Amino acid sequence: VLDDLAVPPLAVERFEPFLSAAQYAELLDAAAKARLLLHDRVLWCVNSTARGGGVAEMLGTLLGYARGSGVDARWVTIDCPPEFLAVTKRLHNRLHGFPGDDGPLGQRERDIYEEVSAENAAGLIERVRPRDVVLLHDPQTAGMAPALAASGALVIWRLHIGADTPNAHVEQAQAFLRPYGEHARAWVFSRKEFIWPGLDPARCHVIAPSIDALSPKNQPMEPETVMAILQSTGLLADGADDDAGFLRRDRSPGRVERRAMMIEEAPTPPDAPLVAQVSRWDNLKDPLGVVTGFAQALPHLGGAHLIVAGPDVTAVADDPEGARVLHDVTERWRALPPLERSRIHLASLPMDDPQENAAIVNALQRRADIVVQKSRAEGFGLTVAEGMWKARAVLATRVGGIQDQIVDGVSGVLLDDPDDLEDYGRKLAILLYDGGYRARLGAAARERVREHFLESRHLEDWVAVFLKVAA
Ligand code: UDP
Repeated sequence: VLDDLAVPPLAVERFEPFLSAAQYAELLDAAAKARLLLHDRVLWCVNSTARGGGVAEMLGTLLGYARGSGVDARWVTIDCPPEFLAVTKRLHNRLHGFPGDDGPLGQRERDIYEEVSAENAAGLIERVRPRDVVLLHDPQTAGMAPALAASGALVIWRLHIGADTPNAHVEQAQAFLRPYGEHARAWVFSRKEFIWPGLDPARCHVIAPSIDALSPKNQPMEPETVMAILQSTGLLADGADDDAGFLRRDRSPGRVERRAMMIEEAPTPPDAPLVAQVSRWDNLKDPLGVVTGFAQALPHLGGAHLIVAGPDVTAVADDPEGARVLHDVTERWRALPPLERSRIHLASLPMDDPQENAAIVNALQRRADIVVQKSRAEGFGLTVAEGMWKARAVLATRVGGIQDQIVDGVSGVLLDDPDDLEDYGRKLAILLYDGGYRARLGAAARERVREHFLESRHLEDWVAVFLKVAA
């Protein structure tokens, strides 16, 4: 039932150009400590999907750096039947403070959750040795903690989600998960505000997520490559056809073909001012608000176009709500007047080749004049950090980890209330009209990510936790 994912090793030396000499020395020291501490054990990372979403995005490269440092790090995804995912998506939404599909979390759901968790745990226990370190990610894997801990593994539960203001939904999800999560030796949260009440503070740790500056999604990209990728995938209107040939021949970080499925036919003119949100099709990302607010503000947005892009919903293994949300957004778009419709584009990005998908996201974020992330809740917005690293002006909601990422008016602009579409439209207009402001925000944003949100810092934080938990 478990899937082993290939993790190509990456050298931590790749971080050298981004760090001061002292920071780089600290990173090498942390890598050496991890190698020593874990020399005779395996570091297992367990989550629910290989692609689609921030956790999968981070695990591949973090584990790559661990392997490149000499740690036997392995990435395993669990088997998630649909009835299990319906329960865990409910838990996911409620931990963010929202009811989700409003379905129950009673004994039946507990039975489903426990049965699937037990099967997955049994598969892993066959391979895990006592004192191996097992990182379980998010609600989908917490149910494996009791059995794994009983087998002698050192279990750490890493929860990437949380709510700014705990409410009855949050409490319900915590009550559901607590009997399993309690078996972990340590808990890692993305911000201190997310730490659950009643846990032993000495066993709680805070690690903010990060992006890999050198991954295909974030690595530098020449403007011609950006254009060629966006045109060859159909996101921007075409120049000459040989652009695509030129791209495939010489420049492409992956195969890039005309395979983004535009939900409607008209691509964005290549030189139009561009606003973009790239996210899973999830109501917590508020794609409806992104579209509706943009449409309402259109008279004030010059000639700007909006692209809302997300994964091909058939390809994301652990998100049962994606197809419905995409359908709702498409219906909302269809109901718009023709002018608004011609300026708003919905795109479903191919997911089968991760390198290709990453190159498209990289190009789209770089081409955008404004990167939007209008989430209603967010553990940490990887897309926010990705836009900031590309020196974009990011407009995002003041929720969850985004508050730690953006200093309002300095390294991006925050929206106080996700329901205030007028404020969203007004801030879009201000940013679109003031290129100097956008450039200042973008420069500060890149610097902020360099200082706080690169994987080098993230790796060091993990080593500090391992030294506490596994020494
Ligand atoms: N992403 C992607 N393709 C898509 C949509 C999203 O590669 O079509 C990536 C996005 O670039 C980011 C991650 O998925 O790296 C989403 O992480 P985030 O923390 O923003 O949100 P999550 O999905 O974890 O809630």
